Amino acid sequence: MACYVQKFGGSSVGNIERIQHVAQLIDKTYREGHQLVVVLSAMSGETDRLMKMARELSTDPDDRELDVLLSSGERVTIALMAMILKNLGVNARSFTGRQVGIVTDGAHTKARVSRVDTKRVLLALKDKVVPIVAGFQGINEASDVTTLGRGGSDLTAVVLAAALKADTCFIYTDVDGVYTADPNMVPSARRLDKISYEEMLEMASLGAKVLQTRSVELAAKHQVPVEVRSSFQDGPGTRVVKEDVDMEQVLVSGVTGDRNQAKVTVVGVPDQPGIAAKIFVAIAEAAINVDMIIQNVSQDSLTDISFTVPRSDLKAAISLVQDLAKEVGARTFEVNEAIAKVSLVGVGMRSHSGVAARMFATLSRDGINIMMISTSEIKISCVVEEKYMELAVRGLHQEFELEKPPAA
Ligand code: ADP
Ligand code: ASP
Ligand code: MG
Repeated sequence: MACYVQKFGGSSVGNIERIQHVAQLIDKTYREGHQLVVVLSAMSGETDRLMKMARELSTDPDDRELDVLLSSGERVTIALMAMILKNLGVNARSFTGRQVGIVTDGAHTKARVSRVDTKRVLLALKDKVVPIVAGFQGINEASDVTTLGRGGSDLTAVVLAAALKADTCFIYTDVDGVYTADPNMVPSARRLDKISYEEMLEMASLGAKVLQTRSVELAAKHQVPVEVRSSFQDGPGTRVVKEDVDMEQVLVSGVTGDRNQAKVTVVGVPDQPGIAAKIFVAIAEAAINVDMIIQNVSQDSLTDISFTVPRSDLKAAISLVQDLAKEVGARTFEVNEAIAKVSLVGVGMRSHSGVAARMFATLSRDGINIMMISTSEIKISCVVEEKYMELAVRGLHQEFELEKPPAA
């Protein structure tokens, strides 16, 4: 008897028919005699709908109340699923984040899980009950509801799989695995049989939303075997596993595009020691995540400093930079929201050179200007104009022949 966690995302439970279909999948695993914990998202579009209502009332809705509101979507799907399963003769019971013992810090809307008290889940499993758990939610130490950031049901699933030492954490979604690029953007993208935790982490953080970044981080930390599968069709998916020798032979494993970026440039800054520190310390203190930074060489003792932030942090960044620009004697500042980041990811880059040059040449061939560049051991990213993002992703996918399976 194995222990599995099965997580079904929004599109997998998007309407009553889909919920009924997923119930059949759960029923099948249950009848095979495995221990099973199910994690569900809200119906697709529901979290966005709730968010939109809150934003219609206020440009800056209260975070604590937002969490109470957003967490309601998952309560609907778990209750409906438990009802359907009971009708099918499966001993199922719904559990909210609180009931399943997921305790987080107090950072509303992006809470981090601090501990899991699996008492109730273990008791349920002992009684041959299938817990149907609401993803994306927990409670803080004060017992207030928190949510785990967008896509956070993946994290709930991995947290439970790690705590229960499950044999596999299945992430069921609307595609049958992790592809060399978003298959909805690149029709020739190829499904990967397996991908390393490290590459998956880079792909997720660089825009491949098929798995939430923090869920991959946690899976890697606890070595949770994860498999991404389709709830729409049968068949194998993609296993997220520890890096092996085969993987190092592949130069590039995937291409990603990320629109969630904005660029801020502080123009005409005195070229003196301490200015960059002043700007970036203030931004770090506001918990704004700066990704790329470039400083242009100046000729007349003035310089321009550009950096990128997630679009969701742009408002906060602008209000800080307004004051900082005055403080450091900058001439002015500019904001560009119409940018995107395209990236190549692959553990093979560690031992191969020339990938960056080929990437730049491909973008230049397609007439795409590179605004910023950043590299790490296993990825290269370029910031380009947003309107060229898809063209860039497709061009790079073709240049690195990612549609072809690697030679054995
Ligand atoms: P769910 O609602 O099941 O959580 P998501 O919408 O969060 O599903 O994630 C699935 C989507 O991720 C796919 O529909 C696909 O468009 C997108 N995606 C982006 N990059 C990739 C990739 N490299 N491989 C597979 N899917 C990807
Ligand atoms: N419902 C949440 C969201 O849309 C969590 C999830 O689907 O994973 O972000
Ligand atoms: Mg998701």
